[in-house]
Amino acid sequence: MSNLNIAPLFTDLELKRPIIMAGPCSAETEIQTLETARLLAMMGIRLFRAGIWKPRTRPGTFEGVGVKGLMWLKKVRNETGMRTGVEVANALHVHEALQHEIDFVWIGARTSANPFAVQEIADALRGADIPVFVKNPVNPDLELWIGALERINGAGITQLGAIHRGFSTYGISEYRNHPQWQIPIELHRRIPALPIIIDPSHIGGKRKLLPAICQEAMDLNFDGLIIEVHINPEEAWSDAGQQVTPVEVAALLNRLILRNPEIKNILGNELDELRRQIDIIDNQLLDILSERMKISDAIGRYKQRNNITILQSRRYNEIMNNRICQATAKGLNPDFTTGIFESIHEESINRQNIIMNSELND
Ligand code: PEP
Ligand code: MN
Repeated sequence: MSNLNIAPLFTDLELKRPIIMAGPCSAETEIQTLETARLLAMMGIRLFRAGIWKPRTRPGTFEGVGVKGLMWLKKVRNETGMRTGVEVANALHVHEALQHEIDFVWIGARTSANPFAVQEIADALRGADIPVFVKNPVNPDLELWIGALERINGAGITQLGAIHRGFSTYGISEYRNHPQWQIPIELHRRIPALPIIIDPSHIGGKRKLLPAICQEAMDLNFDGLIIEVHINPEEAWSDAGQQVTPVEVAALLNRLILRNPEIKNILGNELDELRRQIDIIDNQLLDILSERMKISDAIGRYKQRNNITILQSRRYNEIMNNRICQATAKGLNPDFTTGIFESIHEESINRQNIIMNSELND
């Protein structure tokens, strides 16, 4: 458990779950910013996002309009009453944002991976009384994410939230950034009071993936969504493929199914019974895994006596192929099976390594 001191967000707005933040990836022109904001305000959106300093992967692309965008956001606030937020990546950004009365800020994924940058931002925020959101670092490192939250909280910022925007992977994937839901779920388990907002735009990277990711976020009971919205997405100067129009976002939000996080009594008995069965089976799984590890330890001792390497690639490949065939015949997904056996194999290797090198480890 992490001991963060967390206060509720935007209490005066009395926002209902899910909290929705929407707006363009980047503020491009005054007209584009204001038009997008007006349409979103008409749909009842209260929190407007727009990037004005854009951390781009490659140089030579649009890097944001900079400080002049802050004036446009002030107009958005005055005209629509929406709260406005920008991404900050250094102390100067924080000073400019605070000076121009920006209502909330977030730390981007590339910045939260860098403790020096996060500390600089935290120090610049000291004394400010605004909500601050910390996006997950680009790499799936929960400790680094929590560390960034702790730095901001350590500077006295209590209106704190996390934004889950997925994790980058090498190679081709359906997602732009893989959601790895187990990581934000673990964050929630470790810091239950911390609101977690899901960013389906950067997870998906493509418009068509948005509805399913948003629904999944709701089904996992996360607190809100931050969605990139542009009046003319095709023509956007950054992240064109993932932005949607205000009308599209309204339709998407209307179609979201909000399920009950509490379990109703009527369902209670049946669910209790099924959970009881799961508890028994989990216990059996643990017994079997423990037995398997004991055998693997015995193999480790045999390998040590006979001076054989721990890793026997032929045997490992054989196990993997056989287990996947066996699992498929039992209706289990091959990827799921691979994951389980990779993990079991890794643990066996770790244990054998300790056994075989016991004298080195003493
Ligand atoms: C953004 O929100 O526009 C952004 C740059 O996101 P991330 O830091 O998640 O890449
Ligand atoms: Mn973006």
